[in-house]
Amino acid sequence: MKVALIGVGQAGGKVTERLTRFDANMGFEAVQGALAINSAKPDLQSLQFVDTQLIGADRVNGHGVGGDNELGAEIMQSDVQQVISNLDGRITSRAEAIFVVAGLGGGTGSGGAPALVHHLQRVYDVPVYALGILPGRNEGALYQANAGRSLKTLLREADSTLLIDNDAWHQQGESVEGAFETINDKIARRVGLLFAAGEVVDGVGESVVDSSEIINTLRSGGVSVLGYASEVAAEDSSENIRTVMTVARQALLTGTSMPDATAADAALLVIAGRPERIPRKGVEKARRWLEDETDSMQVRGGDFPLESDRLGALVLLGGAERSERIEAFMQRAREAKRAQGETKPDVVDQLTDDRLENLF
Ligand code: GDP
Repeated sequence: MKVALIGVGQAGGKVTERLTRFDANMGFEAVQGALAINSAKPDLQSLQFVDTQLIGADRVNGHGVGGDNELGAEIMQSDVQQVISNLDGRITSRAEAIFVVAGLGGGTGSGGAPALVHHLQRVYDVPVYALGILPGRNEGALYQANAGRSLKTLLREADSTLLIDNDAWHQQGESVEGAFETINDKIARRVGLLFAAGEVVDGVGESVVDSSEIINTLRSGGVSVLGYASEVAAEDSSENIRTVMTVARQALLTGTSMPDATAADAALLVIAGRPERIPRKGVEKARRWLEDETDSMQVRGGDFPLESDRLGALVLLGGAERSERIEAFMQRAREAKRAQGETKPDVVDQLTDDRLENLF
C-alpha cells in the first residue's frame, strides 16, 4: 500500500522517521512521502531522514506547547494552509492512504493530529488514518487526560485510528528512553510490514494481500490494532502447519499493539516468510481460527514473501474498540480530567460519551 506519512509532535516525528527509514532499508518503497511537523524546533532538528516543518512560530517561537493540547490544536488550525501546501508533491496521486502519526499524550501531536486529519479529509480522496500512541499506565495524569481527548476527537475525524499502547511492545524494567527505542523499532517493523504487504510483489502467486484488503479491513472505522509474532520455520512447508497456527495465535493473543483487544469487525492475517515454506493448509486453518476468535465474519488473508528463516504472522484488526484495555484507558483519562476539575457531569457511556470533550 503506497502511503504518505505525516508525523506531528516529537513521538510522531520520531516514529515517522523510523518507518520511512525501515521502508527504504528494506527496499519496499511503500512510503511515498514523509513530513514531520512540530512546534518545537529542537525536536525537528534531531530528525535526519524526513523533511520537517515548524508550525506556530508566531505563537510559541519554536519552543513547543508544553502539554497544552488545545494550543497544539489551535496552532495546527492556524498554520494548516502552509502544511497543506507543503504536502503538495509529497502526497502524490500514487498514495493510497495517508497516516498521521502522533503520541496522543503530549501537546503538539495530541492536539495537532486530530486538527490535521480533519483538514486532510477535506482535501484528499484517499483514506486518512491516524497512528496514535497511547501513554503507558505510569505516565502522568496530564498525559492520560490529553490522550483521552485526542483519541476521542481522532475517532470522530479519522477513517480509522491504529492504536499502539506504550505498555504493549517492550519489556518490563527498561528505562523510558530504552523502551521508546524498542517500541519505535517495533512500530516501524510491524507497521512497515503491513504497508509492504499491500504492495505488488513480482513473480509471486495470487494470494498476496492487496491494498484494498487493508483498506476494507479498516472500513468500519473506530480503533484498529496490529499484532505480530514470528518463529523459526522448517524447510518443508508441511512441517510448518503448527508453526503458522502458533504465530497467528501469539500475534493476536500476546503480540498486539493494544493488549486484550480481540473482538473486531474485520481482520486481516498476513503470513510472511519464504513462499515455499508457507503451508496453504496452515494459513487456511489460522484464518478460520481468527474468524472464531475475533467473532468476525470478515477475515481476509494472504502471504507476504520475505527472505527470512522465520515465519511471521501479522494480524490487523479493524473496529476493535470494544476492548477492556481501551475502556480502562478511557476510564483513566476521565479520572485524570476530573482531577483537573474541568469535567462536566454527563450520562452517555463509552467512547461516545460527553465526559471527555472533543478538542474542537
Ligand atoms: P508533543 O511533541 O507535544 O506532541 O509530545 P510527545 O510527542 O512527546 O508526546 C508525548 C507522549 O508521547 C507521551 O505519552 C510519551 O510517552 C509518548 N512518547 C514520546 N516520545 C516517544 C517515542 O519516541 N516513542 C513512543 N512510543 N512514545 C513516545
